[in-house]
Amino acid sequence: MAELIFFSGTMDCGKSTLALQMDYNHRARGRGGVRFSCNDRAGGSVISSRLGLQTDAVEVIDATDFWDEVVRRRTTGLKVDYLICDEAQFYSPEQVEQLARVVDEMGVDVFAFGITSDFRTRLFPGSQRFVELADRVQVLQVEALCWCGRRATHNARTVDGIMVVEGEQVVVGDVAMDGGMEADRAEAIPERAEASQPVVGYETLCRRHYMRRVTAHGANLMASRDQLLPFDVDACLWHGAS
Ligand SMILES: [Zn+2]
Repeated sequence: MAELIFFSGTMDCGKSTLALQMDYNHRARGRGGVRFSCNDRAGGSVISSRLGLQTDAVEVIDATDFWDEVVRRRTTGLKVDYLICDEAQFYSPEQVEQLARVVDEMGVDVFAFGITSDFRTRLFPGSQRFVELADRVQVLQVEALCWCGRRATHNARTVDGIMVVEGEQVVVGDVAMDGGMEADRAEAIPERAEASQPVVGYETLCRRHYMRRVTAHGANLMASRDQLLPFDVDACLWHGAS
């Protein structure tokens, strides 16, 4: 019985790594699959993971129709037993419905990987549709961490290093590895360096620090200026040993 499974989590929780592993496992058993992605951090038509794995994929655009994608391949004799759908939060609700139909009427397994909510804590329309339609929603077990060490449950957007809670839902930026030094981001996205374009970045935070809008960069800044924080930082720190 084919299934529609939505693997969800915050950014940096290993979704793309799992997507690639899943593809490998099924391929190794002789099944035929198609990989899809949308706005991957490494560019178009690719699935890339933080751990350095990267492979080609079909880029999902507004005009993509998953039903047609499968039919076209099967017509040319290709085996399509499953689909790997990365960055699935960017798919339209209609495309998610096409995927459900592909599962039910063509017996194709669909493994979708996506973030549930955006930098404003609102659900992405595509993710909402996945939650509504999926046979199973699986929350990924590899947890991203906030700079304070707590489990990161929220995706924050920064513009020129400042956390924002308003703006367009989809702006592709970079997820800073070390919690947001601007130099690293400029290096990661060279085209941003020359222009006066604002640098958009993303960072995973615990809800507490999301609500208080304290990113790693902000916390460092305050600490380096020896400023008194508007709240008790120690009370927010998580001590792994205790
Ligand atoms: Zn935190």
